Amino acid sequence: MASLEDPVEAARKVLAEHPLCDSCLGRLFGLAGYGFTNAERGRALKTLLLMKAYDVVRGLVDREVAISLARTGFKPAEDLLQKLGVERPERQACYICGGLMERVSELAAMCVEAGKEYEHETFQVGCRVPEDISEREEKLWLAFQLSASESIKSEITREVGKLVQSATGKRYSLKDPDVVFVIDVGAWSVSVISRPVYIYGRYRKLVRGLPQNPWLRPPDPRVAYQSSIEELVTGPLVRLYKAESAKLHAAGREDVDVRTLGNGRPFVVEIRNPKVRNVDLKLAQDAVNRAAQGLVEVELLYPVSGKLVPKLKAYAEIARKTYVAVVKLSQSVDPSKVEALEKALSGAVVSQRTPSRILGRKPDKVRKKVVYSVKARLLSPDTLELTITCQGGLYVKELLHGDGGRTKPSVAEILGVDVEVKELDIVWIEEPAAIASFARRSENAS
Ligand SMILES: [Zn+2]
Repeated sequence: MASLEDPVEAARKVLAEHPLCDSCLGRLFGLAGYGFTNAERGRALKTLLLMKAYDVVRGLVDREVAISLARTGFKPAEDLLQKLGVERPERQACYICGGLMERVSELAAMCVEAGKEYEHETFQVGCRVPEDISEREEKLWLAFQLSASESIKSEITREVGKLVQSATGKRYSLKDPDVVFVIDVGAWSVSVISRPVYIYGRYRKLVRGLPQNPWLRPPDPRVAYQSSIEELVTGPLVRLYKAESAKLHAAGREDVDVRTLGNGRPFVVEIRNPKVRNVDLKLAQDAVNRAAQGLVEVELLYPVSGKLVPKLKAYAEIARKTYVAVVKLSQSVDPSKVEALEKALSGAVVSQRTPSRILGRKPDKVRKKVVYSVKARLLSPDTLELTITCQGGLYVKELLHGDGGRTKPSVAEILGVDVEVKELDIVWIEEPAAIASFARRSENAS
């Protein structure tokens, strides 16, 4: 425990073996005292050592200590040796950092320069230090039983942070910073990681045959377009935010042949590594809608926390939805049967086994979902239009045609005919109230 009891004595022992710069010496006792930089600590220790080594009144001269101090470049020790007529030793590079700590302001200037490209209010500094530097430092902690030392990595990040803050006026923040400057000491380089911007919005899909993600392409017979909702929404945003990429996180998905109309489907778009953080959302919305040329229409509502993303899927499961379907019946039915159908299904609990069309991809299980209301009208004796409001996660196509008895009850079962789905649209999706609690007042609010 030499370090806490007598840092001066510990410093004498260390310096007798290894030359250290002020910062690296001070850092060995970095957790002792408060309100000093490590360079100040190191300078103070060297000053005290020299005071103890040279005492005119008691006629004391400890040349060894003076020499160990002089070789670190400590000027008063060099002057003393000159006065005593002793040959001054060569200055030696710091054993731990090799002179790195004198160049911390260069690293800070590199961060300031790299940060100019990124719109930000808050920042944090990260640092990778070559292993040999950390190893030498840790070796000293062990060899001299030092228990109040700080690591070089933590000193560099803190000191660079102070310098960048005073040079730019941006705020150092450990919580959710807009950008992180990552210093690679070995490569002598700085890279910037910018926190994603998340925008909450809703999309309307105005055509059939457009997939949500770019995975599906023609010649898949269900797909009629070369593009996807994701590409149409993210393309203009990547350009406006000068971002690396963007990802669409939607609250569920409609089948390729289903349109989503009405108030649209909730989504969060994640804009990754943006250089611009604050874009007028009305402007961004117009840019997306212009580029989407009537295939998709978005409303970009407000910035949100990224924590909303993992919740979206769960929200999709609980959000109520209203569908409008047009189905072809294998036989004509009379209007009284249609009335009975409305009564039978409104308020019904539907039991669905995993639809046969996705059975290979999803495990076979039974789920129970509520149908809140059904309105039906005959467009012709064998063509029926239905408006169905149901619980999120209900497979509506299967509710219509019954999926060979895997969904019960179903429209086909109640009418006693075969049902072919001709058109299906989502016309309303409930917005769970909790979504609003993820809003960020402005992009830079933390
Ligand atoms: Zn050093």
